[in-house]
Amino acid sequence: MRVLGIETSCDETGVALYDGGPDGAGLLAHAVYSQVELHAEYGGVVPELASRDHIRKLLPLIEQVLDEAGLSAAEIEGIAYTAGPGLVGALLVGAALGRSLAWAWGVPALAVHHMEGHLLAPLLEDPAPAFPFVALLVSGGHTQLVDVQAIGRYRILGESVDDAAGEAFDKTAKILGLPYPGGPALARLAEQGDPTRYRFPRPMTDRPGLDFSFSGLKTFALNAWRQVQAEREDLEQARADIARAFEEAVVDTLLIKCRRAVEAAGAERLIMAGGVSANRRLRARMDEQMDARGVAVFYPRAALCTDNGAMIALAGHERLVAGQHEALSFGARPRWALEALSTLDGDPAS
Ligand code: ATP
Ligand code: MG
Ligand code: FE
Repeated sequence: MRVLGIETSCDETGVALYDGGPDGAGLLAHAVYSQVELHAEYGGVVPELASRDHIRKLLPLIEQVLDEAGLSAAEIEGIAYTAGPGLVGALLVGAALGRSLAWAWGVPALAVHHMEGHLLAPLLEDPAPAFPFVALLVSGGHTQLVDVQAIGRYRILGESVDDAAGEAFDKTAKILGLPYPGGPALARLAEQGDPTRYRFPRPMTDRPGLDFSFSGLKTFALNAWRQVQAEREDLEQARADIARAFEEAVVDTLLIKCRRAVEAAGAERLIMAGGVSANRRLRARMDEQMDARGVAVFYPRAALCTDNGAMIALAGHERLVAGQHEALSFGARPRWALEALSTLDGDPAS
């Protein structure tokens, strides 16, 4: 079944066409328009500007994706849009257009949970992970370990009590004077850093449990940065060294908690998703660690780790084939718990 996916929860307008099922062709086309430049001068996402830009970009992107896939509107069998969590105004743009197009084209509309989208993104790749698995969701707004038994059957094993991993990357990048959004830039800088110069803590790893806390790491980065500035050292090298120490601390912490989660769940598979799962060092070290334990690791290509329409189309497809869809009324859910989702057979999760 061919499903159009629409993502507008934050500062990326994502559109994709996904053809699912055993005879499906998979991902037919996808396009992402990032608003990064629009928000850069403010150092963060400005919600009102985000909504307006989604309005400008969404229809042209839908036309572009249909064109690329060589499909006409009449060949679309369902429309999935992100209904939450996210910025309410931004969500409403995708929800309103998605719902209206579905009505006009006479096809079902599917309200998709953004984090379920991230969580299922590895299923867009070949080989796709089989259920059950443990999921590490590491994005700009979430850091969660999830026990995934099936689609819709999600149990949160642990999560961040303060900053999300991506948020910590962005804030630390800002401290080091890198332009918004700093996560990827900080990761690039870290490659030039000396890993032995500083050692930052691995928060909350000295006690049992699967929760995370990343907000303290930026203070370590700030203190180190102030000190090298006061001592007028080689600032470029020092900045790279601090970036490296920060990245090592985040990666180590994620590794330790994933190891615990996989052991506790007796899992044979681990998936990673969300923007931070694009991080090269995280991927390499997770592969290495899990390989040694006979646990298979799955993650999407980098472009599908950050926000995109493909993951929304896939999640919507799975719900559509199970017979779920939205009524004619629609809404946005800026706050929405992953565990509140229903399973495909209609039972409430866990
Ligand atoms: P959420 O999905 O929780 O609502 P979001 O949609 O803003 O948040 P994503 O688009 O999944 O988050 O990911 C963006 C985050 O990923 C940003 O914080 C960004 O800095 C981070 N990120 C992207 N690439 C990398 C990388 N290579 N290394 C570290 N962090 C990265
Ligand atoms: Mg974004
Ligand atoms: Fe996201």
